[in-house]
Order: sequence, then C-alpha cells, then structure tokens
Amino acid sequence: MSDRIFSLIDALESQHSLTLEDYAFLAGNPTEDAMKYAAEKACCSRRNLYGNSVYVRGLIEFTNLCKNNCLYCGIRRSNLHCQRYRLTQDDILSCCETGYHLGFRTFVLQGGEDGYWKDEILIPLIRKIKEKHPDCAVTLSIGERSRESYQRLFDAGADRYLLRHETADQPHYERLHPKEMSFSNRMRCLWDLKEIGYQTGCGFMIGSPFQTPETLAKDLKFIEDFSPDMCGIGPFIPHKDTPFKDQKAGTLKETLWLLSLIRLMLPHVLLPATTALGTIHPSGREMGILSGANVVMPNLSPISVRKKYELYDNKICTGDETAECLGSLQKRLKSIGYTLTADKGDVHRP
Ligand code: SAH
Repeated sequence: MSDRIFSLIDALESQHSLTLEDYAFLAGNPTEDAMKYAAEKACCSRRNLYGNSVYVRGLIEFTNLCKNNCLYCGIRRSNLHCQRYRLTQDDILSCCETGYHLGFRTFVLQGGEDGYWKDEILIPLIRKIKEKHPDCAVTLSIGERSRESYQRLFDAGADRYLLRHETADQPHYERLHPKEMSFSNRMRCLWDLKEIGYQTGCGFMIGSPFQTPETLAKDLKFIEDFSPDMCGIGPFIPHKDTPFKDQKAGTLKETLWLLSLIRLMLPHVLLPATTALGTIHPSGREMGILSGANVVMPNLSPISVRKKYELYDNKICTGDETAECLGSLQKRLKSIGYTLTADKGDVHRP
C-alpha cells in the first residue's frame, strides 16, 4: 500500500493530475512517511516559483451581518448570540492606512453577506482604497453575488476574489447548507469571477461534517479543473451556537497533508496557512508553511470587533496572528527559513 502512496505523490508532482479514485486513496491515507515525503516535494515545487517568500495579506473583517444560514458558521443569521457589527467606510479606510504603514500591500475585505453593502456603496469604497494605495491589491471575500455585480466591483478596481466552494460534492454541499443555498449557484459564481478576470480563490474546510475521502477527491478534482490562483483551506472548527456544535473538528494532520497535495497539484497557487490552522495548534501556521503554504493573513480589523467575527470557537485574535505583531511573525518565519514579503504578491503562473 505504501508504495502506491509514494508513486501517486510522484505522479501528482509530475503530471499535476490524478483520477478521482487515486485522489480518494491519497486523501484517506496520510501516513507519517508519506506526509514527510509530500511536504518536502511541496516545498521544493513552491521554492522554484516563489523562493522562500511568504506573502502577507491584511484581513479586514468589515461586517458580521449575514443573510445566510450555513450550518457550520458562527455568524449565520440564526445565531442570536452573535453581537453584530458593521464597520463604516472611514473605519475601513483607516484600517488600510494603518496596514499600509505596517507594510501590507494587499487588503482583504471579508464579511458576511450583509445587504447593506450594495454595489453603490462598495464601488466608491474600492475606488478610494485604490486611489490612496495604487500599489496595493484589493481582495474581496463577500460571498455570492450576481455576475453583473462582480463585474462592476472588478471595474471599480477590485483585483482578487475569495469564494470557497466549501465542497465539490453536491449532496455534501446540501448537508452543510440550508435549502435556500445551492451548489450550482456557488459554482456559477466561481466561474463568473474567473471569466471576469479576477485572481480567484476557491477552497474548503478540512474535516467538515460528512466529509469523506470521496468528497475530498471531488474537491481535489475540482481544484485541478478550476486551476484557481488562490486556495483557502483550513480545519473545520465547531462553533457552540450552530447546529454543528457537537461535531468533531478537522485535524492538523489532515490539513497539512491536503496543503502538500494541493501545492503539488498547483505549484503556482497562493496557499494560505489560515487563522483556523493557527487556532488548532500554536505553531499551526509555521507547520502549514513547511507543508507547502505561502501566504499568511494577519488580522487588520479594529481590535474592538475581532472577537465578534467569530466563525468558530476560540478563534485566535490577540497573539502573533495580528497585524501589530508582524515583527514577531517575521521572526517566527525566519527561524524556519522563510521571509515575509511586503510586495503585492501576485500569482506566478509558470
Ligand atoms: N461570506 C463570505 C465569507 C465567509 S467566511 C463567503 O461566503 O465567502 C470565510 C470562510 O470561513 C468560509 O468560506 C468557511 O469555509 C470558513 N468557515 C466558516 N465557518 C467555519 C468553521 N466553523 N470552521 C472553520 N472554518 C469556517
């Protein structure tokens, strides 16, 4: 069996493609030796394109109001214990200003699907950020919208868009989301974003309820077909006020394994070591980098709201993951042989 794992890792590295059956086999067998082997190869393939650079993105969680009711998410609309907030345009601009001085050249505006942020409100905001910081990229992560809206936000200057597909298996998607949300619309959004010209990111949670090696195989196949510029993966962590409160969290081991496999499949992909990974283990993010990740996203939101953007329990928000602690993050990365890189960090397609 172990021979098969190693030869599949080699095949993924050289052909960047496997069958669904082989993906399922790999996904379900993270042995220690295979993980080590895959991580070394993943770091090598990343080094060829990105050297030892790790890119930073300043994450601005600008609203936790949300019309959706995703079963896993702590800011789902039915969670009445969630203290809701919405930053003002000035708050957001001042986060960017602070971030710019700290050295950030990408701002990620992430939020729930909050109906207040219509195109008419977002367009002038995006324009202002780009006017003040023409050398910076603006990334949006604000969920599902119409193609026309994506186009208008792109025309206003947004460069990138993150929309995790969550799972590429439709029945699985339907177990993670309420009836009013649809797998086909999620997919439509992703393909629209890509066609419009955004640098586009998909992604999913590791260890989400009902996930199996077969659903993971579909995730990997989808990522192979979609060939995103960015891919956000992190462990599922239950939130106490959601229907999934008693479900098991995703593990460090599985997350590191999938990071390596995705790097081997897509050498160019911008792959974050996520906050969720830092939440399940104190050095989760360093381990993520050593498994193939090359992006970190410190929190730039005003300190007063950080705890309120609680997608899952115990989200880290006072330590090295914050923007103010860039220096200490830099040191931690240096100790494992990497450098935090201030530039905009666009994708390097081979
Ligand atoms: N509303 C935006 C942003 C969502 S929050 C959107 O729909 O894209 C960003 C990501 O956090 C989600 O895509 C989801 O994958 C992740 N997330 C939500 N709840 C989580 C949980 N309980 N554990 C881990 N990750 C979670």
